[in-house]
Amino acid sequence: MARRRLGDLLVEAGLITAEQLTHTLNTKSPDEKLGDALLREGFITEQQLIEVLEFQLGIPHVNIYQYPIDQELIQLVPKELAKRHYAMPIRRDKNRLFVAMADPMDYFAIEEIRMATGYQVEPAIATKDDLYRTITKYYDLQESMEEIMGEFSPKDTIDEAKVTDEDSPVVRLVNQIIANGLAQRASDIHFDPQETEFRVRYRVDGVLRTERTLPKHMQNIIVARIKIMANLNITESRLPQDGRIKTTVNFKPVDIRVSTLPTIFGEKVVMRILDLSNALNNIEKIGFTNDNLVKFQTMLKQPNGIVLITGPTGSGKSSTLYAALNQMNSEDVNIITVEDPVEYQLEGVNQIQVNEDVGLTFANGLRSILRQDPDIVMIGEIRDTETAQIAIRASLTGHLVLSTLHTNSAVAGVTRLIDMGIESYLISSSVIGIIAQRLVRKVCRDCGEEVEATEREKDIFAERGLEVHTVMRGSGCPSCNNTGYRGRMAIQEVLPINDAIRKLIMTGGSTAEIRQFVQENGMKFLLDDGLLKVINGQTTTEEVLRVASLD
Ligand SMILES: [Zn+2]
Repeated sequence: MARRRLGDLLVEAGLITAEQLTHTLNTKSPDEKLGDALLREGFITEQQLIEVLEFQLGIPHVNIYQYPIDQELIQLVPKELAKRHYAMPIRRDKNRLFVAMADPMDYFAIEEIRMATGYQVEPAIATKDDLYRTITKYYDLQESMEEIMGEFSPKDTIDEAKVTDEDSPVVRLVNQIIANGLAQRASDIHFDPQETEFRVRYRVDGVLRTERTLPKHMQNIIVARIKIMANLNITESRLPQDGRIKTTVNFKPVDIRVSTLPTIFGEKVVMRILDLSNALNNIEKIGFTNDNLVKFQTMLKQPNGIVLITGPTGSGKSSTLYAALNQMNSEDVNIITVEDPVEYQLEGVNQIQVNEDVGLTFANGLRSILRQDPDIVMIGEIRDTETAQIAIRASLTGHLVLSTLHTNSAVAGVTRLIDMGIESYLISSSVIGIIAQRLVRKVCRDCGEEVEATEREKDIFAERGLEVHTVMRGSGCPSCNNTGYRGRMAIQEVLPINDAIRKLIMTGGSTAEIRQFVQENGMKFLLDDGLLKVINGQTTTEEVLRVASLD
């Protein structure tokens, strides 16, 4: 490759003027790279720089997240070298080593890597930010793993000190896996025993993906460490256990729910990360449309009655419930909850944890609650007839009851109660509103672009009486891990039970009949709410169709 100067290339490409180049060369400090100085001056963007290098010099641009990076390559390039040059080895082919670099024209760096590895270096371009995160992730984790493997052989027994001493490698490794999960905004971390390896997976924005695989012999010591952290019985591995970890990561309080499950290949551990800083959402921030928000707020202002939130597991039902409770929480109301498990602790609210082992069920807990003079009662979930009956009795005797049901739509909530054996007159006299909710991923703000809607999209919108021309779509970038999505939001349907619907329920109207009636009266279903949010550029049609059906 002929050595060409970056500055000349950029001037040739018309991205900067000769004056800007001279100015930058004259004012930058001697050890600052020209590319960095131009970025700092704001004359070019990192993307422009990458494009010039890619098209003018034919140096490939890589997004290192797409590379399943080979652990052996990391041992080839020392960490110090990787960090100093922002260089990450990504692939090896015979005597050639492909290295992603922030500055692929840095011939001294390339030479240094060639000398250290003995390979011919083929540079590729990646963004600095992208490289920094990948290098930190792989090298730091690799270091603690190597230490563990050095200090712990598969034949060793697990002794107490190894898993409790804050400086021991396994302790640091587990901390690092958690910190990494938080950095990637994971909601859950799975430790999966496989036949020949131990897999670590993160769930980010609702999608589970493998973070890395560890050698099988590290399984037991890692599980032991997690059990110690969560106050679980370390010697019990044949029964499932539940526990909790309260810790701080990067000065932030983190609450983690831990559950273990014996599988044929050993104990599987799932950590659910409860990020306390996000726990208490304001109702306004959950994603209700103005129309739906007004309806929901009206329900919450009623002195008595039942408000139900429905949806499958992972649809954000409890976040909405907590936001509602948080809004109503004040000194002059007595709020009592019975939950399984208590997910977030609310100040000034009496929260009861269901404990089946000692006979404290939802129904029992609820009975005791009602003797404690509550104004507002929250029941984590109505799972059985007995709980449903007590909830209805509570609402009929002057309490506002909030709870969740595991159904697919708001209208189906009515049918579920009937299936539980509740008389329709009791339902119509107690339930004041039902909300169905789902979570969809939001379009990444960094790479989202307005694009023309497809014909199929236009058809789908037209079927719901909506018109769409352009939609937002993320092309993938480092800040969204190349998925095009970042963060999640809720879509809802809100069904206030008015006199007409009450009459329908009383006279034994079917789900289909109630559904048709509310549709004729202008109800916006989950799908409609989702499509509106597509039109607003917040999410995509695919996301909405993934969680809300067309029929
Ligand atoms: Zn993005």
